[in-house]
Amino acid sequence: MFKTVLILGHIRGIRIQLHISWVFILVLLVASMSTGFHHQYPEWSLAMAAATALVTALLFFASILAHELGHSIVALRRGVPVESITLFIFGGVAQMERDPERAEDEFWIAIAGPAVSVALALAFAALARATADGYEPIPVALGWLALINLVVAIFNLIPGFPLDGGRVFRAVIWKLTGDARRAIQAAVWGGRVVAFLLFGFAFWNLVVIGNLIGGLWMMLIAWFLLTMAEGQGRMFDMRERLADVRARDLASPDPPCVRPETTIDDWIHHDVLPGGRRAFLVGTPEWVQGLVSLSDSRKLPREQWAARRVDEIMTPVESLSRVAPDTKAEAILRMMSERNLNQIPVMEASGRAIGWIERQQLLRTIEIHMDLQRP
Ligand SMILES: [Zn+2]
Repeated sequence: MFKTVLILGHIRGIRIQLHISWVFILVLLVASMSTGFHHQYPEWSLAMAAATALVTALLFFASILAHELGHSIVALRRGVPVESITLFIFGGVAQMERDPERAEDEFWIAIAGPAVSVALALAFAALARATADGYEPIPVALGWLALINLVVAIFNLIPGFPLDGGRVFRAVIWKLTGDARRAIQAAVWGGRVVAFLLFGFAFWNLVVIGNLIGGLWMMLIAWFLLTMAEGQGRMFDMRERLADVRARDLASPDPPCVRPETTIDDWIHHDVLPGGRRAFLVGTPEWVQGLVSLSDSRKLPREQWAARRVDEIMTPVESLSRVAPDTKAEAILRMMSERNLNQIPVMEASGRAIGWIERQQLLRTIEIHMDLQRP
């Protein structure tokens, strides 16, 4: 399968990764900075402008990573596990396993990112000043980094989801009113206002100023912010309602099974076609050897289906995505969408499958759970 993220490594157990869309923004940034430098400093050669732009852009992304590490390290110290940090087209995101349970934690985790950006801005400004008389590209790059880190800090402090300022805003309202739900709604509203203001500004750029690229870019960011704000509102709602729902509550108890020695032809004609199911566990629930799905049949040409066994094309149990009976509903949903899984077995530590969760079924069951708990 085509991978959309590249894992760079781990820092304090946090997976650091690049999303494929990051390459696009890197190229765009380097290209626009190179031409910018080349225009502003005509005495620089194009190669010198391009090299300065590349180094500056990489340091900028390192600054974004530092911003996200700021959030993450405070989160870890406050007992909130952090899974990964991803750099992508609109910046960076630190994926935490759950939301902070106290307003204070939310506040300090949210503020830590912008605090790192401000500190970086000051440090780059001081370095730019110290190197002002040296080789020109160095203070120019440092000055740009100081400015952009300041912009990152200020932009992120705007009080609307999904920006850090939205989380700070939420934490303050949460602390003042003691009402987590109202605080979320306020921050979602803040996010909508921010997104619509940015839409307006983008429109003004497009129509009045005629800044096509900038306008479209802002339009994209506004759209992204709006979707994220709405999504976070729904996510909080869902988390609250699904907090106690686990894999064992969601699993259908009788996963379809096929014996490993069955030929692919027999499996398709006797199991897949009559029942309409696309995936089967190979073996028995007590002894699962793997999982075979209709797409695995493409691994072999059709002429061989009569002679080859399903265990030759299955995903073996060692490399199978699975969940434990007490895995939370939210984690299952995230895992299934991240890995693009249509079904996932629920397995005990002993290797026994107690059931199986299908994506469509999961979404319907979650809806029912949410309806049942609606006040
Ligand atoms: Zn941040």
